[in-house]
Amino acid sequence: MLKMSRAFNLGKVFGIPFRLHYTWFIIFILVTVSLSWQVFPALYPGWASLTYWVTGIVTSLLFFASVLAHELAHSLIARINGIPVKSITLFIFGGVAQITREAARPGAELKMAAAGPACSLVIGGLFALVWFFTEGVIEPIAALAFWLAQINVVLAIFNLIPGFPLDGGRVFRSLIWRLTGNYKRSTQIAVRVGQGVGYTFIGLGITAALLSLFGRAPFGLTLFSGLWLTFIGWFLENAASASYHQVKWRDALHGFSASQVMTAVYPAVPPNITVRELVQGYIFTSGHHLFMVADEGRLVGILTLDNIKSVPQPSWEATQVKEVMTPVDKLRVAHPDQDALSILEQMEEDDINQMPVVSGDRVIGLITRDNLIRVLRLRFELGV
Ligand SMILES: [Zn+2]
Repeated sequence: MLKMSRAFNLGKVFGIPFRLHYTWFIIFILVTVSLSWQVFPALYPGWASLTYWVTGIVTSLLFFASVLAHELAHSLIARINGIPVKSITLFIFGGVAQITREAARPGAELKMAAAGPACSLVIGGLFALVWFFTEGVIEPIAALAFWLAQINVVLAIFNLIPGFPLDGGRVFRSLIWRLTGNYKRSTQIAVRVGQGVGYTFIGLGITAALLSLFGRAPFGLTLFSGLWLTFIGWFLENAASASYHQVKWRDALHGFSASQVMTAVYPAVPPNITVRELVQGYIFTSGHHLFMVADEGRLVGILTLDNIKSVPQPSWEATQVKEVMTPVDKLRVAHPDQDALSILEQMEEDDINQMPVVSGDRVIGLITRDNLIRVLRLRFELGV
C-alpha cells in the first residue's frame, strides 16, 4: 500500500491540513502533458504551442482543485456529523480525506459518502454551463470547460461504483446497514463486492492490454489504458482488503482499555547510569530490547537498542543513558483508560512500536504492538 505519510503539507483549507503525496506529481505531469500534447491539439488544431501548454496546465490544476473540492465535501459533512478530519491528501489515484472515525449511524455515513460524488456532479454542471457560454467565443476556455465538465462527471460515476472503500461502496454499506442493523455484516458484504470490483478491473485491464498488442482492443483502449485499469484494480482490491482487516481489528480490540492490554512489568533504568553499565548490567542479564528510563518512578524517556547503537563503543563509558534516550516530551504516551484501538491507530500513524502507559506522571506499563497482536490472536483463537 502507499504510505500516506510521504506527503508535503501545503497549508489548510477550512481548517483541514491539505497535503500532496509525492506520487501526485507523477499524475499531475501525466495529465498536463496528455492534455497539452494530445487531447487539445487533436480536438482544436491551429492554436499556438504556448496556448496548448497554458490551457493544459490551467485545466490540470482546476482538475485537481475539483478533486480537492470532492474530498472537502466528504470532510465538511463528516465534521457536521461530529467526526473530525485529520487531513486531505492528493495522490496518484485522486484524493483521500483522512476521516478519523467511521460514522456511528447509517444515515450519517450515507450523507458523508454521497457528498463527494454530488459535489463532483455540481462542479461538472458548472463547467458545462461555462462551456455553453464560451463555445465558439473563447476557444481555450470552452475546451478547458468541456474537458472539466466531462472529467467531473466521470469522477462522480467512478466513485459511485458500489465497491468498498469507494464512495459507492460506502453508500451501499450504509443502505445494507440500515436494512439489517448489522454494521459488521454489511461491511463484510461491501468489502467482498469491493474486492470483486478490483478483480474485475484487473481482468479487464489485462485483457485490454493484451488485445491492444494485437491491435484489437475495443473502445480505443491502448496498452497504457489497459495497464492503468489493472493498476487501479490492484489498488481497489488492496484498499478493500485493508479495510476488511481494519474492521476485524476494530471489532476485536473494541472495549479494551490500555490498562487491560499493557505489560505492567517493564524494565526500568535510572537516567544517570552509563551506556556501558546499561549494556553489561541490564541488557546482557535481562535480554530486553527496550527500557523505560525512570527517575524515581517518573518517566523521563525510553531507550531502545537503536539508541544504543547510535553511540560508538569507545564512548559507552562516558555517555549517560539520558543523553541517548528518546525524551518523554518527544514520546507518544497512552492513558490507562484509552481505547486499545485508538492506540493501535496512533502507532500505525506515527510508525512506532511501543507506547508507555502513563497515569499522572507515573509510568504504569508499556504497550507494544506485540501486546495488541497477542490480544487479537487470543480472541480469534478462543472465538470470543
Ligand atoms: Zn469520494
